[in-house]
Amino acid sequence: MARPQLKVIQGAGRLTPESPVRDVKGVGEKFEKLLNKVGIATVRDLLLNLPFRWEPYVRVELLSELRPGEQATFVGTVKSIRAEGARYQKIKMAKAEIRDAAGQVLSVVWFHQPRLAYRYRAGERIAVAGQVVLGYRGGLEMRNPHHEKVGGTITRRVGELIPKYHETAGLSSARLAEWVAAALPVAEELEETLPDDVRRHHGLMPLAEAIRQGHQPRSEADWEEAKRRLAFQELFEFQAAFVLMRRGLEDEVARPIHYRQEVIEAFKAGLPFAFTNAQRKATWDVFQDMEREQPMNRLLNGDVGSGKTAVAAAAAAMAHAAGFQTIVMAPTEILARQHLHKFRAYLEQSLPGLTVELLVSGLPAAERRRVRTAAASGHCALVVGTHALIEEDVEMADLGLAIVDEQHRFGVQQRELLREKGRGRPHFLAMTATPIPRTLALALYGEMALSFLDELPPGRTPIDTQVVEPEARQRAYDLVRTEVAAGRQAFVICPLVEESDKLQAKAATAEFERLRTEVFTDLRLGLVHGRLKEKDASMAAFAAGETDILVATAVVEVGVDVPNATVMLIEGADRFGLAQLHQFRGRVGRGAHQSYCLLLADDPSEDALHRLQLVAGEHDGFRLARADMEIRGIGQLMGARQHGLTDLGMDALRDPELLSEVRQEAEAVLAADPELERQPALRAAVEARLRQAVIS
Ligand code: ADP
Ligand code: MG
Repeated sequence: MARPQLKVIQGAGRLTPESPVRDVKGVGEKFEKLLNKVGIATVRDLLLNLPFRWEPYVRVELLSELRPGEQATFVGTVKSIRAEGARYQKIKMAKAEIRDAAGQVLSVVWFHQPRLAYRYRAGERIAVAGQVVLGYRGGLEMRNPHHEKVGGTITRRVGELIPKYHETAGLSSARLAEWVAAALPVAEELEETLPDDVRRHHGLMPLAEAIRQGHQPRSEADWEEAKRRLAFQELFEFQAAFVLMRRGLEDEVARPIHYRQEVIEAFKAGLPFAFTNAQRKATWDVFQDMEREQPMNRLLNGDVGSGKTAVAAAAAAMAHAAGFQTIVMAPTEILARQHLHKFRAYLEQSLPGLTVELLVSGLPAAERRRVRTAAASGHCALVVGTHALIEEDVEMADLGLAIVDEQHRFGVQQRELLREKGRGRPHFLAMTATPIPRTLALALYGEMALSFLDELPPGRTPIDTQVVEPEARQRAYDLVRTEVAAGRQAFVICPLVEESDKLQAKAATAEFERLRTEVFTDLRLGLVHGRLKEKDASMAAFAAGETDILVATAVVEVGVDVPNATVMLIEGADRFGLAQLHQFRGRVGRGAHQSYCLLLADDPSEDALHRLQLVAGEHDGFRLARADMEIRGIGQLMGARQHGLTDLGMDALRDPELLSEVRQEAEAVLAADPELERQPALRAAVEARLRQAVIS
């Protein structure tokens, strides 16, 4: 059969969604590299990458400078914001009052967008852009203005809307806008992945239109609608992928671990504390899962110090009583060693016959051999080790339960490896390193069942957290000195320079040298960063009390328990997310002594100080993570971007209802068409998401 002839345009040929970006006019090889860096490889990627905001109009900060009828961007502080519109009223809206430094107030109303009331909070700085009119009470008002949270600085520009794309060194938004314009005709060829009825039901525009309006909107409302459509699609594809993953697990066979009252009683009797309610509930979830003939796939989601390990140990006890072995995987050798001690303390006394062993590469060869033999013969009930070693190096007589700590996702390949180690699929329990708010957890780990440890054990002394302004740096150093003099230790976290290991390492080394030779000349300092070969040794020296101060980069794993460390000093704290700061803070306060967290801001704007004060005043990790989502967007929350969600998708999660709607739709679509045979484009998109979810 003759193939239809493609009309070949001179040179690079006709652009299709699959064409590499270099084929777009003006891109070429030089820019292709830069585009690849920000995740744009094909024309499709380029088109799907909407600007994240627009910069309109002249900026004004005092309402007294504005006259009715003028177009402007006004930057102020939200005084109040709420959704309005009763059920019998047709029109729903969000209403806000925005205050300037002089206390004068601008009224803002967004018709048909009541959900905006959830996007902004009283006290936040936002920019609204549009025409100023005289309200009916004589005050200034804007109706349906463009809006955006004020983060960095808005460049002063006059004229029409200017799109802002995510940039990387050498790529400007203006360039991106040009390339997008050149590729825009290809939007027509992108396959629609959302089923028609889903689209209609949620009032979502067709894909091609969303691409056009997303890049070249005529109004703010156009752009919002385009974003909503693309975010919906992204979340929908992920949720559909999760449904398929869950279904895949339902088809797997695992051997049930039956619940036995006397086992949990013996286990609890051996603990030096009583379970919190959250621990009790999570343990119960786990026991119920393990009783099934399908493998458990559960995520234990909890704050630092919420006691995830004890829940995991309870599961291991039950597995042991049922005649199965357990493995526990930790990301680093030091963490594995700490787990060994905890699991031993929790299990070996109260459950005679349950032996716990360690498997890490730092062990002498003979010891490793001994542990491997014990595991393979079934003499050892629980093996704790690093991911790598467990994957390569251990055979289990009868693996029934696999526990992964501080790793968010566990891929299919790793699961296969586990299966080879037992008979059938082991039950699987993962533990987070940081608390993840429910919505985000569902968006990122929708294939897993979730348990929340949202309660800390009683009797913890809150960590005294202080925001230190640059002038007061000496005071922070004094505190470090006082604590060290009292026999305690301190962490110093270096500022986040760039997302580059190399620069991080360099900056940390410089800071280490400075502190060592200029500030703490008489103290013992250690250094750890991602590129340091001796980083484990450096960590271990600190843990052993051989150094007083550990200087570390932000990228380095500081998930280590050093009860004697009482000070966490964080440089450039304003560059970190709240959740991340909270995580650093969790590294101290693990012993009996009062601990401190000192947040040093580099360039403390009022906004930055305000954010840091939130951390000082709030000790609940879930709440801080939620605040982070609201303030900075979820993009900055740890790990979110690695898991494949774009900023657009993440931003949409701020709407509390959207995700549950998306989930329901995805479930309904897959119930009606289980293999997506009638929807090949959707199937292809979902398969791509599956690959993404599995690899990450
Ligand atoms: P994480 O959730 O960060 O892994 P851990 O499991 O390491 O937390 O527990 C932190 C500390 O709290 C440990 O020293 C542990 O023994 C202790 N702990 C756990 N549960 C309780 C509890 N219910 N009451 C008191 N202390 C507890
Ligand atoms: Mg832990």
